[in-house]
Amino acid sequence: MPAVYLIWVEAPDITAEARPGQFVTLRCGDHLPLRRPLSIHRTDGRKLALLFAVVGQGTEWLSGRLVGEYVDLLGPLGNGFSIHHGSQKLLLIAGGIGIAPLVALAEEGVDAGLSVKLVIGAETASKLYPEDFIPGGVEAICVTDDGSAGGRGVATDFLPPLADWADQIFACGPMPMYRRMAEMGLGDKPVQVLLEQVMGCGIGACRGCAVMTRQGIRLVCRDGPVFRLGEIIWEEVKEPGVNRLTRWA
Ligand SMILES: Cc1cc2nc3c(=O)[nH]c(=O)nc-3n(C[C@H](O)[C@H](O)[C@H](O)COP(=O)(O)OP(=O)(O)OC[C@H]3O[C@@H](n4cnc5c(N)ncnc54)[C@H](O)[C@@H]3O)c2cc1C
Repeated sequence: MPAVYLIWVEAPDITAEARPGQFVTLRCGDHLPLRRPLSIHRTDGRKLALLFAVVGQGTEWLSGRLVGEYVDLLGPLGNGFSIHHGSQKLLLIAGGIGIAPLVALAEEGVDAGLSVKLVIGAETASKLYPEDFIPGGVEAICVTDDGSAGGRGVATDFLPPLADWADQIFACGPMPMYRRMAEMGLGDKPVQVLLEQVMGCGIGACRGCAVMTRQGIRLVCRDGPVFRLGEIIWEEVKEPGVNRLTRWA
């Protein structure tokens, strides 16, 4: 499991408009021409937080920034999650670093007076999102692959009884988690998932983040990153690491 960083950035133009599930793209130094997408983890007035795992050159560069340095951000981008009018009970499912976009959504739900349950899955106890960072009023249910904290298993193992309770389900996690959720059916529940496909431009020009949906090809950066679970043709979606776009930097 890679190292995970939380950074706060002053970006008032972005925080003024940002919604949970939207993202920013960052220029990660002069040596990488492609901007890297990261979800808006939280906002607080003029500041926004990014929570990211160091997996390659871009995130490695970002993890080395110091207080007071400038970073080049573009956003907010994408559609974001939407809480339906009349929904009272929200179930949020986070696999690993998939917790990043869900905390702001949990906060929005609680602020609107809704019941929010958040299932947080991680490999092991030390990799779990810190409990004291979870917004007050959210019922957190922790699960770990090795059973070192909370229930033993993956987040989807705990889904069936909780899904019955929920009016709406929101998820962010790895592709196998989504495939499992799609197989489960989940009745007629409205389920929104955030896709973390590898992106080229982030603004709909390069088509590197195309996914096949029941309405045809859609771009994760422009039409997403949030989609209905049942809208995606999961057999056609490649793992992020083996997307059509061969990232050249
Ligand atoms: C809309 C959106 C929101 C995202 N939000 C977050 C977030 O909040 N926090 C976070 O940590 N990450 C997030 N990601 C993933 C993040 O963009 C990538 O991890 C990042 O671009 C990797 O850049 P890098 O230069 O460090 O790695 P690279 O050098 O580009 O790649 C290093 C390795 O990571 C793999 N990789 C690259 N991108 C992804 C990906 N999207 N998913 C899985 N593996 C990948 C590559 O195949 C390669 O093996 C998000 C992606 C999208 C599309």
